Amino acid sequence: MRMKDTVVLVTGSGQGIGRAIAIRLAQEGARLVIEDRLDNAMAEQTLDFVRKAGSDGCVIAGDVGSVADDRAVIEQAVEAMGRVDVLVNNAGVERRAPFLEVTEDDYDLVMDVNLKGAFFVTQAFVKHLRDTKRGGRIVNVSSVHEELPFPHFASYCASKGGMKMMMRNLAIELAPLGIAINNVAPGAVGTPINQHLLANKAQLDALVANIPLGRLADPSEVANAVLFLASPEASYITGTTLFIDGGLLWNYSEQ
Ligand code: BGC
Repeated sequence: MRMKDTVVLVTGSGQGIGRAIAIRLAQEGARLVIEDRLDNAMAEQTLDFVRKAGSDGCVIAGDVGSVADDRAVIEQAVEAMGRVDVLVNNAGVERRAPFLEVTEDDYDLVMDVNLKGAFFVTQAFVKHLRDTKRGGRIVNVSSVHEELPFPHFASYCASKGGMKMMMRNLAIELAPLGIAINNVAPGAVGTPINQHLLANKAQLDALVANIPLGRLADPSEVANAVLFLASPEASYITGTTLFIDGGLLWNYSEQ
C-alpha cells in the first residue's frame, strides 16, 4: 500500500484520466476527494469505484475556474476528510478552432479551467499545508502540448505551456515548505476529451501513425505515473515533467 491513509484531492475526477487516477490511488490505500464541476452522477460513480477498490472518500462540487470555488473546495475537503496531503490538478478542457476564429468565451474557458484553476486550487492547498505545518505533494496533469505545438488548439497549448512554467516556478518557491510539484504530460489517451477523435477513423489513424508505440494510452497508464509522483517513492523529485506519450513528443524520422 504505497499511499496508505494519504488524503488525495483529484480535480475533474468524474471521468477520464481523473477517474483512473482516483481508482489507482485508492487501490494503494489513498482516501479520495473526488472533485468535479457538478456534484453529479459521474463523480458519485467514481466514488463507488474508490469504495470497490477498498478505500473511501467524498465528492465535492466546484468550478475550478472560480477562485471562490477553489478556496471552498479545499475548505470542504479538509472538513470532510480532516486534511489533504496530495493535490492532483487534473481538470482540463480543450476547444478546437483555427486561431482567427477563437472566441473570447472559449479562450477564457480553457485558460480558466486548465491554468487559473490549477493555480488557485494549488494556492488554497498550499495555504492549508502551511497552516497545518506540513509538507505535501502536487501533481499536475498537463499534456504533451506543454511542449508540442498543436495547430487549432492555441489556447490549449498556451494553458499547458503556462502550467509547465507554473510548476517549475512553484517547485523552487514551495521547496522550503517541503512541498514538491511535478507534471505528468499525457499524449493521446482514450478518454472523453478525445471523443470526437475516437469517432473519426481517418483522424485517429493519422494520430496513431505519429505515435512510435502505435496506440493510444489507457488512462490507467497515466494513473500509474501520477501514483509514482504522488508517492513517497518520488521524494527527491520536484520541478520536472514525466511524459506518458508512447514516444509522440520527440518522434521524428526521414523515410
Ligand atoms: C489532447 C488530445 C490530443 C493529444 C495528443 C492531448 O493533450 O487533449 O486532444 O489528441 O493531446 O495530441
